[in-house]
Amino acid sequence: MQGMCITYAQYAYDQGFGITKNGGSSKDGRKQVIVHCTKDGKPKISSKKAIAEKNKKVEKELCQARINLNFDQSRNVWIITSFTKKHNHTLYPEHSHRIRSFRQIQEWAKKQLELNDRAGVSLTSNISAVTEMGGGPLHCGFSERDGRNLIVKMRRGKFLKGDAEAMMQFFRESKQKDPNFYYSYRFDESNRLDVVFWADSHPNLGINFSGMS
Ligand SMILES: [Zn+2]
Repeated sequence: MQGMCITYAQYAYDQGFGITKNGGSSKDGRKQVIVHCTKDGKPKISSKKAIAEKNKKVEKELCQARINLNFDQSRNVWIITSFTKKHNHTLYPEHSHRIRSFRQIQEWAKKQLELNDRAGVSLTSNISAVTEMGGGPLHCGFSERDGRNLIVKMRRGKFLKGDAEAMMQFFRESKQKDPNFYYSYRFDESNRLDVVFWADSHPNLGINFSGMS
């Protein structure tokens, strides 16, 4: 099964389309898996994620390209029950490295991004350096946005315990290091830090925290 999915993933990468895997057991207990093109328009996502996806204006084109597999228990093998090759949209194999399902930040790169960030390297220089270490934008396996999102997530993790003073200190230092860094905050009636927003030169990194004290 694993091997089959990897083979289909490689096929998808070569062709230039993203894939999503859904699986489960039918009423009679048979295991089945569907690996389909991400432009099938019927993603299994929660409503919260659906809103985020909608906001990002992700195209869904009801594409039917997919592979269906059933598990044959008696023979202990996965059987391909159907394969739909045709897509209803253009494929861009030269851009496969940008497709979300094929992007991944490897562990060494995550560690390096974190180390650089702790050392005070700016977001842009940090991502650029690690991207180069990974062989450049085409081969490192992640996009600039992936790198930025990871760093923001790591930074955010430091503040989840409600340490408002540490957060303010972080903002002041970030502003000193990066003139493009912007932050804003407000207090509620109880003088608790209520809403925080920050962004560097990248406009999509605004983050709100509520109820921090
Ligand atoms: Zn498709």
